[in-house]
Amino acid sequence: MEITTVAAKRFSEKLLEWHHQHNTRSLPWKGVKDPYKIWLSEVILQQTRAMQGLPYYVLFIEKWPDINALAAAPHEEVFRAWQGLGYYSRCKNMLVTARIIATQYGGVFPAQYAHILALKGIGAYTASAIASFAFGLPHAVVDGNVYRILSRYLGIPDSIDTTQGKKLFATVATAMLHQEDSAAYNQAIMDFGATVCIPAKPGCSSCPLQEGCYAFRNNVTNSFPVRSKKLTIKTRHFGYVILECNGEIWLHKREAGDIWENLHEPYLIEHTGPVDAEFVKNELAQYQYALNGHIQHISTEKQRLTHQHIHFYFFHVRLTQKLPIAHGNWLSKKQLGKLAFPKSLFKVFDLHLLR
Ligand code: SF4
Repeated sequence: MEITTVAAKRFSEKLLEWHHQHNTRSLPWKGVKDPYKIWLSEVILQQTRAMQGLPYYVLFIEKWPDINALAAAPHEEVFRAWQGLGYYSRCKNMLVTARIIATQYGGVFPAQYAHILALKGIGAYTASAIASFAFGLPHAVVDGNVYRILSRYLGIPDSIDTTQGKKLFATVATAMLHQEDSAAYNQAIMDFGATVCIPAKPGCSSCPLQEGCYAFRNNVTNSFPVRSKKLTIKTRHFGYVILECNGEIWLHKREAGDIWENLHEPYLIEHTGPVDAEFVKNELAQYQYALNGHIQHISTEKQRLTHQHIHFYFFHVRLTQKLPIAHGNWLSKKQLGKLAFPKSLFKVFDLHLLR
C-alpha cells in the first residue's frame, strides 16, 4: 500500500489539531515524561480500561514511586496490589523488568527502542509508547485503536490478525506518524480511537478526518477492521471447595501453563459440566472420615476472559481433621490476607471467610 507524504501529513496534522483543540480526555499519566510512570501505566492498561486501571496506577505510584522501589518490593506484596486487574503474567513480567533495570541498568530506564523492546513483557506497542512519550523517538504505537482508525481511514482490506496484515499495519502506522512530534501524535491516535473512532457507532458526523476517510465516504465503517479468524472460546467449570479445619484453609499455588499462574486457590475440581454438592461429595468420598456435616454451597459465579468463559461453583466444608492433600498448604485466615488470589476468588474469600 502506497501512502504519499502529503496524505500522511494531512492525516497526522488533522489528528494533532483535534488533539490540541478538542481532546479533553484527562488521565494522570498523560503528558508525563518519566519512563517508569509511562511504562507502569502502559502495563496496567494492557487488556484493561483506563477507568479500571486508574486506581491501580495511583496505588502503585504511591507505594513504589520509582523503578528501584518496585524492584525491591516483595513478590507477594506486588501481586496483592495487582489483585483484581487480571492477566497476572503482566505483573510477573513487570517485576522481572523492574529488577533487570535496577540491576543491569543501574536503576535508569533504557532510552533506546531496541533495549526497551528487549525487556520482559514489553511488546512493540509499549516500547513505542515509552520511546515516544519519554524520549521523543519516532516510533508509532499500533494497537486495536490504531488498526481501526487506519483501516477505516485508508480502507485497508488486509486482515489485522495475520502475520502479513500485522506487518502491513506496522508499516502504514510508521508512514502516518508525525515525525517531529511522535509523542503528541501517539497520544492523539490513542485518545481518538477511545473517544471518536470507536468500534460501534463512531462519531463520524463531527469527525475532523471525515473528508479523507474511505469508510465514511463509502458508508462502510462497520466493515473495518477486517479479521480472518473467528475467536474460539472455551467454557470451563471450576468447582472450588474451601476446606477448613481449626481455622485453617487448604490452599494451592497455581502453576505455569494455565491462567492465574502464581495465584492461590482452594481445592479445585475441574469438571466438564456444572458442579453440585453431590458431585463434590463423591469427589471427596475417600476423605469421608474427616467430613463434618454437609457440604455448603456458597455461590455460583461466572467470569469471561478473552478466550475462556469460566463458571465457578463455590463450596465450604468444615473438617474434623486436615486432609493429606499434596501440592498445597494449610494456612490461617491471617496468612490468607497476605496472598494474592484471582479476582473471582478474592470476592468469595472476602465475603465469606476473611471478615
Ligand atoms: S470519519 Fe468516522 S470512521 Fe472515519 S476516521 Fe472519522 S470517526 Fe473514524
